[in-house]
Amino acid sequence: MTEQPDRHDLLIRGGRLIDPANGKDGLFDVAVKDGRIADVAPGLSAEHAAQVIDATGKIVSPGLIDTHAHIFQYVAGPFGLNPDEVGLQSGVGTLIDQGGPSSMTIDGFRKFIVEPAQTRVRCFLSTYLVGGLYGHIYSDLYGPEQINVDAAVKAIMANGDIVAGLKSHAEPGHYARWGLAVLEKSKEVARQAKVPTYVHLGTLWPVRDGREVDPYALLGEMIPLMDEGDILAHPFTRHPSGFTNAEGKVHPLVFEAIDRGVTIDVGRGNHFSIKVARQVLDAGVLPDTLGADLHGYNISRASAAAAADAFATANDGHLQEGMSQTAMGSADPAFSLYYAMSEMLALGIELPHLIAMNTSNAAKMCRLQDSLGSLGIGRAADIAILDLQSGAFTMTDGVGETMTASQRIRPYLAVQGGKVFQPRSEFLPFWEREAA
Ligand SMILES: [Zn+2]
Repeated sequence: MTEQPDRHDLLIRGGRLIDPANGKDGLFDVAVKDGRIADVAPGLSAEHAAQVIDATGKIVSPGLIDTHAHIFQYVAGPFGLNPDEVGLQSGVGTLIDQGGPSSMTIDGFRKFIVEPAQTRVRCFLSTYLVGGLYGHIYSDLYGPEQINVDAAVKAIMANGDIVAGLKSHAEPGHYARWGLAVLEKSKEVARQAKVPTYVHLGTLWPVRDGREVDPYALLGEMIPLMDEGDILAHPFTRHPSGFTNAEGKVHPLVFEAIDRGVTIDVGRGNHFSIKVARQVLDAGVLPDTLGADLHGYNISRASAAAAADAFATANDGHLQEGMSQTAMGSADPAFSLYYAMSEMLALGIELPHLIAMNTSNAAKMCRLQDSLGSLGIGRAADIAILDLQSGAFTMTDGVGETMTASQRIRPYLAVQGGKVFQPRSEFLPFWEREAA
């Protein structure tokens, strides 16, 4: 018998394919050969495929990209998680570390995180010399004097294969100490290096010593500094200086920024508020991308309690508003990217847009659309197979508010470069880990 020249290594058949980059939503089979997408078409023959996955009733999409991860393990302290546990073992093919590595530590990030991980790892470089150690608990490390523009620009230029942008902050704690100096210096770095800036909104540190910051005014001052392609993060934060004021009204400059090409990343984290999310969505703001913002302090109650202690010690006994054992770890394990996706569905975001948030839009945010976020023929075979379940599911936010979802998503299988992974990370909520 002669060798079949068109024999496929893997065939995923029968699923609903959602591939926003290629405008596809329907019943398509996906064939993989030599780690690449070989064919995408309805009714492909299984006869010559070495392995066949039956995806009937499942959603098939490009490999998922989590735009906000903290995976500088052993360097970011308890904050940094294991990349493969957050990534492929949780059904997520690509992770973007937000501000863990810096100009001083990017080589270590490459050697000890990017290279050994099976998950694809990229990052937004921290604007600060030290990077996001311990989740920015020690505020003295994160002032404008801790930013070296030349060093950051050089590090970005020298590591263009793994650095997709710059991570910075514009929140009341920074503003009370240094005004907008941190963001201004960050923008200098980003403009010189020609990369997007990802800006954290929402209170990070307590504002002390009688100083007061009007979060809404802060937003009005910082948004004009944002360029096309920059990213505003945490629009659904329960902390002040998100998108809304005390009355729940979205700042008018948010719409102006969106018109200019500034994009919005959910950055779910532990400060996600269902109430604020509804206010923002009802105002007509649809986020572009979704990052889970999973880290060591929101993955378990024990590490949340340790973080609260460390934070109070570093900030003269002042706890961040709402930073307590309960608020930081409302479930144990808390959540996952798939859980955050389920929340977005429950809030009314349509499934095709949701898939775009974690595939084509995420790739665009990182300027990786030529290599990631699409099931185009010849692309690396990074594929996610999702299991959409129907029922009545209760979901809880960072303040204990609940909503009932009629659908939820769990990872079924992840394919990375043609290799199949079963998502069984200990970080996944137990129902996501259940064998299908
Ligand atoms: Zn984060």
